[in-house]
Amino acid sequence: MTIIKEDKRVGPAICCKCGDDAKINHGGKWYCAIESDMGVMNLKGFCIKERKNKNDKEKKFKQSN
Ligand SMILES: [Zn+2]
Repeated sequence: MTIIKEDKRVGPAICCKCGDDAKINHGGKWYCAIESDMGVMNLKGFCIKERKNKNDKEKKFKQSN
């Protein structure tokens, strides 16, 4: 996706977390993935890579217990 940024330059929208192509602007920040919270009216952006890292950490924590 190409966007016009706040400084009026045109460029690709990239995820604020991982730098991949962004798909949605949520709360003023761009994210590479979209999820819906209770239906399509509540679309939210999130970073796939950030979430994956978090899940990996939780898995490791559970395995060590
Ligand atoms: Zn991302």
